Amino acid sequence: MNNNGYFDRFGGRYVAEVLRRPLDELERAFTDAMLDPDFGKELETLRADFIGRPTPLLFAGNATRELGGADVYIKMEGLAHTGAHKINNAIGQALLVKRMGKKRVIAETGAGQHGLATASACAKLGLECVIYMGDVDVRRQQPNVAAMELYGAKVVPVMAGSRTLKDAINEAMRDWAASFVDTHYLIGSALGPAPFPDMVRTFQSVIGRETLAQSRERGLDLEAMIACVGGGSNAIGFFEPFIGIKSPRLVGVEAGGIGPGRSENAVRMTGSAASDGIIHGYKSRFLVDDDGQVAETRSISAGLDYPGIGPQLASLGESGRIEFISASDSEALDAVRFFARTEGVIFALESAHAGAACMRLARDLPKGKAVIVNMSGRGDKDIFITSPVFRYEEWKAFLRAELIRLESGADIHSFGGSK
Ligand SMILES: *Cc1c(COP(=O)(O)O)cnc(C)c1O
Repeated sequence: MNNNGYFDRFGGRYVAEVLRRPLDELERAFTDAMLDPDFGKELETLRADFIGRPTPLLFAGNATRELGGADVYIKMEGLAHTGAHKINNAIGQALLVKRMGKKRVIAETGAGQHGLATASACAKLGLECVIYMGDVDVRRQQPNVAAMELYGAKVVPVMAGSRTLKDAINEAMRDWAASFVDTHYLIGSALGPAPFPDMVRTFQSVIGRETLAQSRERGLDLEAMIACVGGGSNAIGFFEPFIGIKSPRLVGVEAGGIGPGRSENAVRMTGSAASDGIIHGYKSRFLVDDDGQVAETRSISAGLDYPGIGPQLASLGESGRIEFISASDSEALDAVRFFARTEGVIFALESAHAGAACMRLARDLPKGKAVIVNMSGRGDKDIFITSPVFRYEEWKAFLRAELIRLESGADIHSFGGSK
């Protein structure tokens, strides 16, 4: 690995002594696999047949006309199997697990998107799968829990702390420390102790390589690439082939939430509430409170609602290669509406933050230049969040009617099947 897992002062491997061995072993296995053409071939086949790659690059002609500036293109990553980019990383790591001869995969999940991708990849590759999920999140995200169980994964509710993502990560680390001989911890974003940031970027960089080829084929005069940033995996994968060159502009969009105040957003790079920290095994920029504890974050999009940011993004943000901006909850909702109406495409709420930034940018750029926004996921998963906003009364009436229907006993037993 370059720089021993460091990106300037960020990154590293800050873990309990017992985890050094599995991390060393993982780093060796990953390096070997990347040099093995057979691994590459197998991964290519899964990308094509299972994930559905390459994902298209869509010219958003109607959006372009309405905004009146640069040509807008959408990288349709949300068309990947399971609905988002997360499967690129999950299938890559799961294939590596097979190669290492391990049988069991554990993962953390917040809203459930990474758990879903991991459970699906494990089902496909015949691996046992355990997903740690905060008890609060298990209750909030029942549709994803149901899908994970359908894929054969075991979902373990975590009762510690605030019972959300950060507690699920701690629990997964604890499991791994005791189980690494036959178990792999499949981290879901470009963060955590080395070699995870390098490995996750590598598996996600397929997004950027495809985009580069697609934009060359069309002869685009590329001005900017825009991606939302939670932990940072879709952004770093999308940007990867462009990082070492001067152009295009690379724009990372963080969750502006409901305002600039503490605990009102998840802005790590431009806000005043973030500082350097070492949490979850790596050094980066984190949102912390006065006591140096991980602070509450807030965003309408569960995927951007994480207190830390991947170490390479933090470093590229400080060096200026990546520009960071933020978009608020309401701007994201406006972007969902805009691209649905103009292009017939419903962005995931996370991706809609990039969509909102893209709308701002494209307006101000000259015609003929191109901007590409990465639609990291599609919006189907968000109906429980967007419906109460867009159609409050109708949605409430629908849920009430559903409950009455269920409680009346209709349908429950008539379809058969065993639990
Ligand atoms: C999880 C998720 C994100 C945020 O994760 P990154 O690692 O920052 O990419 C963004 N978009 C979608 C659709 C997600 O599911």
